[in-house]
Amino acid sequence: MVAKSSTEKRKHEVLSRGSAVSILIIGAGVFGLSTALHLLENGYRDVSILDAQQFDKSNYSPYNGADSASSDTRKVIRAAYGSKGHYTSLAMEAVESWKSWNKEASHPLLINSGWARTNDKEELLPVEVKNFKTMEALGLRESQYQLADTAERERAISQGWSDTKVDPFGRTSNGLPLGGVFDSSAGFLRASDACTFVLEKVKQLGGKTVLGPAGRVSQLLYASEQKHGDQRRVLGVKTEDGKLHRSDVVIVAAGAHTHVLVPASSDILTAAAGTVAQIKVPIAQQERYRPDNFPISMWNYTGEDESGSFTVFPLDEYGTVKILHNAPQWRNTVYHEVEGAGPAHINALSIPTSWSLEERTNVPKASIECIKRFISENVADLSGAEIVMAKLCWDSRSIDDDFLIDWVPGLEGCIVVSGGSNHGFKFLPTLGKYVLKVLQGQHDEYTKLWQWRTPSEREVENFKDLNLSSIRALSEQKLSSSLRDLEW
Ligand SMILES: Cc1cc2nc3c(=O)[nH]c(=O)nc-3n(C[C@H](O)[C@H](O)[C@H](O)COP(=O)(O)OP(=O)(O)OC[C@H]3O[C@@H](n4cnc5c(N)ncnc54)[C@H](O)[C@@H]3O)c2cc1C
Repeated sequence: MVAKSSTEKRKHEVLSRGSAVSILIIGAGVFGLSTALHLLENGYRDVSILDAQQFDKSNYSPYNGADSASSDTRKVIRAAYGSKGHYTSLAMEAVESWKSWNKEASHPLLINSGWARTNDKEELLPVEVKNFKTMEALGLRESQYQLADTAERERAISQGWSDTKVDPFGRTSNGLPLGGVFDSSAGFLRASDACTFVLEKVKQLGGKTVLGPAGRVSQLLYASEQKHGDQRRVLGVKTEDGKLHRSDVVIVAAGAHTHVLVPASSDILTAAAGTVAQIKVPIAQQERYRPDNFPISMWNYTGEDESGSFTVFPLDEYGTVKILHNAPQWRNTVYHEVEGAGPAHINALSIPTSWSLEERTNVPKASIECIKRFISENVADLSGAEIVMAKLCWDSRSIDDDFLIDWVPGLEGCIVVSGGSNHGFKFLPTLGKYVLKVLQGQHDEYTKLWQWRTPSEREVENFKDLNLSSIRALSEQKLSSSLRDLEW
């Protein structure tokens, strides 16, 4: 009880100072950028972002060596959320902002390419039945096409969508069954350009940035006096160069590293990765994969668990297509000494591995073989095409795939903004609005959904899945380490 009231007191101190408080954000990914943007747009003047990566030089592009969940060529934007319908209205809200950013940016950030979620099943999956109902309620039912139904495919074509949009893997022309849905309301975001655009906005609004090695935070900075039992007060952060950065509030938006900096969150957040490969498309095939012709194309969509699926994204400006293989959500278990949160102890955690442009790859060799097999069977015109890079894309995965945006119990002055759980990117324009609410002590259905959770021990164990015999254990895999490992 004492601990809680002390945290509450600190919150009230922050509230009473309004926009005069100094705020330091760790992480310039989608969660940190959106937070900074909304704070600055709402009158907060002392906002700094620290990030270990030099995004002002790399422009968040993996082709320039950027390595984070947000540093990517393309991400899906969709309103269809199956049973997690509460994200639908949130996504619709975000779409409106993306459309207005499209007008502001030098080139569109959101491209309405459509999204084909395909399989070989005649019946709609339960998740798609829910999606259809959601779309109907939104007045968007017409934008959804059931692919097993010839009349529905013809309806799409009569409305201007190409053959490739409704059957991107050419299954019907090969006499193979085609099921699933073409969702013409969905599309992709030019992820790295979008982050660069928002970083620029943040700077224009007066946000301060420390990017690169000087922005690498080694630990939170705690008040030396131990107050009220385990209750601790955060005074700022310490960077690896030994420098102290003080602030009234620290917001930890460090993606898949968040639970390392805030060990108390490690029962709710973990680091999990999918494999992303960029495939160079031969000039002769490029027309087929352009966004006008090719949708985001998912194969083996079996329901709410996307872990066995493959997704091909339309051609990018580098002449490559991104292929995402989400299985099996890798875990990289390490034994980590927990600092600064009471007596030091060792904690088993999954933490991200790093990737570099020099080596070009850090993924399990088995994943590369899976991707090659997928290519040969489904987009055979890319068989033998050069794989120019392959990387593990690590996100902060939460125990229930809902985000975590809340004050940290027991850590005065610290808010966690994380848990993107493989679907956070699309909310870049709007997430910060909810961080602002939490900071100002206001609540709505989303801040309640994303508040601190206290799962049971059993739930935590299943979710973390740190067992070295698990199929997700990266340590049991042979990893690729050079371009040679990507050759056919
Ligand atoms: C494989 C995969 C596919 C996905 N596909 C989609 C999709 O199609 N659509 C969608 O909407 N979402 C998607 N997502 C989710 C989305 O990409 C993430 O939820 C979102 O980008 C997370 O943003 P973030 O800011 O939390 O993390 P990040 O983008 O990882 O940013 C965290 C930042 O913190 C910095 N940092 C970490 N530790 C420190 C430290 N100690 N000091 C300083 N800086 C530090 C890092 O350098 C990094 O820049 C996908 C995620 C994955 C993994």
